[in-house]
Amino acid sequence: MKKWIYIVGIIVIVIVAILVGCYLFRKDSNLKEQENFKMNNTMVDEPNEIKNNILANEISVSTQDKEKISPNSVLILKKQYEECFHTIREYAKMPEEYVNLTKQELEEKQEGWQVESFSPNEVILIKQVSGVCNQHYMLRLKDGVIAVYQIQDDNTEILKEETGISTEYLTEIDKIRLEEGIRIYGEEELNSTLEDYE
Ligand SMILES: [Zn+2]
Repeated sequence: MKKWIYIVGIIVIVIVAILVGCYLFRKDSNLKEQENFKMNNTMVDEPNEIKNNILANEISVSTQDKEKISPNSVLILKKQYEECFHTIREYAKMPEEYVNLTKQELEEKQEGWQVESFSPNEVILIKQVSGVCNQHYMLRLKDGVIAVYQIQDDNTEILKEETGISTEYLTEIDKIRLEEGIRIYGEEELNSTLEDYE
């Protein structure tokens, strides 16, 4: 009789041990699952960060649109001449009425000029102009000397200066060419050509 109770006692202890073992095993695997879940969460976080970055970029783009012309900024006027294809740049102080304008406001104020580039410290406006730029000259003979004429927008010529170079010492070919008129571009070419005749 005593032996029987002994056996039942051992069986109960074994069953309890198995149950406790199962419980501990489950607890352990639950912890692992939770860790996996945490890892998944951090992986989900990354696309959110990218989204946030995109949002930040969009905000910086829209603040760029809100940039205003500062009072000390430089205004560059570019004229593109249709006949000679030269571009002349003029540097000017920013007119007071343009200070604090955004790019869009400036564009609305302009007639004929286009905003080529815009930043608070430098604005470039560009415009197509008919005719030739002011860097074109014509050499002709006038009262026995070589004279320099400036070619205007409408292709007419205005006397710029009469040089001291007399026709007396010029070759016949030079005289013929000067009678027809010699077209010159730029101060540099003008000076070097005149030096050749001296
Ligand atoms: Zn030109």
